[in-house]
Amino acid sequence: MSQTNQRVGIYAGSFDPPTLGHFDIIERARAKLVDKLIVVVAHNINKSSLFTVQERVDLVRKQLGKDKIEVCALDGLLVDFANKVRADVIVRGLRAVSDFDYEFQMAGMNAKLDSNIETVFLMAKENYQFISSRMVKEIAMLGGNVDVFVGSDIGSAIRSKLNNDC
Ligand code: ADP
Repeated sequence: MSQTNQRVGIYAGSFDPPTLGHFDIIERARAKLVDKLIVVVAHNINKSSLFTVQERVDLVRKQLGKDKIEVCALDGLLVDFANKVRADVIVRGLRAVSDFDYEFQMAGMNAKLDSNIETVFLMAKENYQFISSRMVKEIAMLGGNVDVFVGSDIGSAIRSKLNNDC
């Protein structure tokens, strides 16, 4: 527990791009789990990214309202960041069995690195279970409209990014 008795959570991920599934987890975590949620945008060395980390931070901020949520870029280990901000929990979303192995392993390793931090999982909402950032990128690169998965603002940002890169 943080000093002020505020329950602090961090929701970390690549968010490349952030999707309606991510925003749903953010809203539910804030409504039911923690007093303060910090969204942490991480560079994922195993994934090729469409947006830079700073661009993803800005996309999440813009979507949620700049003053309403803290969004940070992660530079280093998540457990170190969690300690620095005195977080009580790491929040993650679980879509399907396919997420489980990776999430289980990561939660286990984070717990070994720092036994004070708990990882809690929220099940993806039925409507959003099938949405993944990777598929959104693939569909957009093939010219599909992805607004239904990410909302129109982020859909536009993806289109501009792809047009600029071509
Ligand atoms: P990572 O690269 O760490 O997997 P992501 O940005 O893909 O990061 O996802 C961050 C977290 O959000 C993960 O716990 C992931 O399982 C979860 N997540 C991703 N997409 C959805 C979705 N559609 N609904 C619920 N949770 C999701």
